[in-house]
Amino acid sequence: MTASSPTLPGRVTVLSGGVGGARFLQGLLHWLEQAAAAAGAAVPPVTVVANTADDLWVHGLKVCPDLDTVMYTLGDGIDPERGWGRTAETWHVKEELAAYGVEPTWFGLGDRDVATHLVRTQMLEAGYPLSAVTEALCRRWRPGVRLLPMTDDRVETHVAVPDDDEPSGQRVVHFQEYWIRLQAAVPALAVVPVGLESATPGPGVVEALTETDLVVLPPSNPVVSLGTILGVPGVREALHATSAPVVGLSPIIGGRHVRGMAQQLLESRGVPVSASGVGLHYGARSAGGVLDAWLVDDVDAAEVAAVEAAGIRCRAVPLMMTDADATARMAAAAVALATDG
Ligand code: GDP
Ligand code: CA
Repeated sequence: MTASSPTLPGRVTVLSGGVGGARFLQGLLHWLEQAAAAAGAAVPPVTVVANTADDLWVHGLKVCPDLDTVMYTLGDGIDPERGWGRTAETWHVKEELAAYGVEPTWFGLGDRDVATHLVRTQMLEAGYPLSAVTEALCRRWRPGVRLLPMTDDRVETHVAVPDDDEPSGQRVVHFQEYWIRLQAAVPALAVVPVGLESATPGPGVVEALTETDLVVLPPSNPVVSLGTILGVPGVREALHATSAPVVGLSPIIGGRHVRGMAQQLLESRGVPVSASGVGLHYGARSAGGVLDAWLVDDVDAAEVAAVEAAGIRCRAVPLMMTDADATARMAAAAVALATDG
């Protein structure tokens, strides 16, 4: 380690969506392992609070895309090219279902992946909460983090899209249908997290935010991933109450999302599609928001001043997660900005 390496944090808690959050977590763990080895210290424990509002029931199975993406990525079971689903996947179940003509045909249910959903669905139907099911699944995958669903309650993000055949001129689809079947190519007129207002934080979630030494918001989708986690009643309050610093990394670089559909959804919320726009949308903790510190990409360095003017410490560094080393450097920069200033 160099003299400029940030101090090794104690306990770390990360809020996460799917692919963006999981890739960041890989880099964070990589850096924590290196820094701990260099310091002759134990690797700090990491807790992940994952979004569950993308979850859906499909062909009678409960599918949790973001939990599974984190679990498979950190457990070395992910398909690295796709960024989701299992490695060495085959698609016979999907083909057979399509041959029966049963909908939905657009959802990618891989043969290996089906086993995870079968175990989950059986356990849920036996009465176990999602948090206990997730813990059981993680016993196989050993992701190296404690993985907590944001809530055990059913929350589903729905998206209103234009439809001339409907008297109202619009129709509501599940977020997965908006993203996978419609490929986010039609306007999102509204994004509605159904059930969010009456959800309660899952077991351990509030404690993971208050009894920790650092909270990180990775470059996950600010609306449908982190926006829903922050919308679980009690989560924002926990972030206000915690004595740990809260640092985030921008998913928007040069006015565009790196992948996914953050642009469309931010527009539907009236949030400017820029690194500073997202940082200011989260807001300063000192002013009722959730951030103490915010990292933007080098190309957005001109936006640092606007973020700092709002009371959020801000710095520009490379934020492209091109490989584990580049992502580890991002994690180190986030820790440095949060803890060392
Ligand atoms: P999802 O649930 O699979 O959509 O994943 P997340 O919500 O965790 O992350 C999606 C977000 O990650 C998108 O808004 C992307 O812009 C962002 N993202 C993906 N790759 C990168 C990257 O290399 N750098 C940065 N800064 N953001 C990224
Ligand atoms: Ca997701």
